[in-house]
Amino acid sequence: MSIDLCLVVPPFAQVETPTLGVAILAAACRARGLRVTVVHANLMLAARVGHGCYGEIATSNVASLLGERLFLPHAYRADPAVAFDAPTALPPRLRSTHDAVAPAIAPLLDDVCTRIRSLAPRIVGITSSFQQTLAASAIAQRIKDEAPDTRIVLGGPNAASPMGEALADIFPWIDHFFSGEADIAFPDFCAHLLADPGADLPRIVHCPPLTDMRCSPAPDFSDYFADLDRLGDALPASLPEALPVELSRGCWWGAKNHCTFCGLNGATMMFREMPGATALAELDGLEAKWSIGRFAVADNIMPLRYLTDLLPALAARGEPPTLFYEVKANLKYDQLALMARAAIEKIQPGIESLSSPVLKLMRKGVSAHQNIALLRDCRSLGIGVVWNYLYGFPGEQVEHYAPVAALIPALEHLEPPNDFSPLIVDRFSPYHNTPEAFGIAGIAPIAAYRGLFPRHARLDAIAYHFRGNYTTALIDDADTRLAMGRAIGLWRLQWAIGASPQLRIVDADGAPVVIDTRRIATQAQISLPPEWNRALRLLERPHAADDLDVDPAVIAELIARHYILAHEGLLLSIVTRQAQDITEPPAYANAPAA
Ligand code: SF4
Repeated sequence: MSIDLCLVVPPFAQVETPTLGVAILAAACRARGLRVTVVHANLMLAARVGHGCYGEIATSNVASLLGERLFLPHAYRADPAVAFDAPTALPPRLRSTHDAVAPAIAPLLDDVCTRIRSLAPRIVGITSSFQQTLAASAIAQRIKDEAPDTRIVLGGPNAASPMGEALADIFPWIDHFFSGEADIAFPDFCAHLLADPGADLPRIVHCPPLTDMRCSPAPDFSDYFADLDRLGDALPASLPEALPVELSRGCWWGAKNHCTFCGLNGATMMFREMPGATALAELDGLEAKWSIGRFAVADNIMPLRYLTDLLPALAARGEPPTLFYEVKANLKYDQLALMARAAIEKIQPGIESLSSPVLKLMRKGVSAHQNIALLRDCRSLGIGVVWNYLYGFPGEQVEHYAPVAALIPALEHLEPPNDFSPLIVDRFSPYHNTPEAFGIAGIAPIAAYRGLFPRHARLDAIAYHFRGNYTTALIDDADTRLAMGRAIGLWRLQWAIGASPQLRIVDADGAPVVIDTRRIATQAQISLPPEWNRALRLLERPHAADDLDVDPAVIAELIARHYILAHEGLLLSIVTRQAQDITEPPAYANAPAA
């Protein structure tokens, strides 16, 4: 029996969670009465080459575009008139991964297309974000060759205008390109096409952003679970690790102050959020349906209103579901404590730097001290923090990094960044939109795009990642970059080997004791004198030294022990405490001054 619509998730979408956009579109189309099946080509490839190997490619550095490289030999029809440049060389480790996986691609495409053909869909919708474009083209081309009457649609972030228009020039086997939020427009489009198969519909479909998140249906993950079942033991039984949900779109911070490097949200930063009660009902519905109480929230930034509606409601539950959430880093202790009570077990706060001047260059709206205090309070509360340290911001100076490298040994008890990596200019970011305003000249797609698209393709319009022709004092100072990279590497190593460094005040028979297991520790354990404890409590918020009613000798001692940081002219305690011991700072009242 034929179906109306087959939605395809190409490699290298991650397999640890279902793909959210496709699950939302499947639900929206089913609500319109369409017969829909989602085919997870990503799961099929992971099952073929092994979960670990697949994950290595799915999470590989974007600068290599390894995922796209693997589908290059299958993405185009043989045509001697279409010329390609030679792709850039891969580093040896990626080359061996590439060579190990490459033989699996053609049989994978055979399997995927056999499965799609067996469903006999009238429309095939393929999603593309990150490294999925050439896989999408390879699947589309084969389906078109085998079933020319099938309408093929490409959507997802890589089809957003002007990328979709430029891909339309080189992928004639794809009929339509959807740009923007397709929740309503795509089901309408499919219903129209099914009612009138010969309809002359636009090749590029521009979708206006949703104005009310309640118009977006809850995602339908049934086909993800069906495909997992079909693949049996070939994938870990632990999948999925979490269910993705989307409770808001856009960014309330970016709508007024777009971070200079941020290319998220395409054409619109407009912030839209579900009311807390709607969000709660969606989480409850998904947990009840799939018996999974772990959610990866896909929002760019947590709505502030959730601090007063959704999170208190979750916190009031005996066993709330656990959440991963992206947040703004200027959260205060009582807000983080609420998050911990609401079972938010991990956050991604966009820390990016521990230098206030660099954060200002990014328009991040937070200071280095707020970032460090957040890391400290999350360690106290047991909330995991995912973050990266970025460099290469136009205007940065060596003195924005050298003091941070010196601080890092004192910070080893706080969660380290995943990486110390250079800025890549992303499409839709201010650095890409107005490079001249930042002194960036010669914006061009990163080298890895070379050879992936025909020579005549409009690569400037297709690419998402760019390099600019500019430098900074840090880029020119290899010694300081090396010192930062080495310090962060050692920090990460302490955590990787399970050393779990601590700098924590614990209660020992009613008396506070400092436990210090950092490599920089001057004493592993010491009773905390009351005047030290008082100073540390005062310095849970940053203060200038002359702004404190504390004996300067105490401050000098606490600095010498690396319990207090002196950074950028302010003092800050970095000592963690058992959660209940932390001084409650002033209650959250209004939106934080981001
Ligand atoms: S980096 Fe985060 S906070 Fe900044 S504009 Fe982008 S989504 Fe918003």
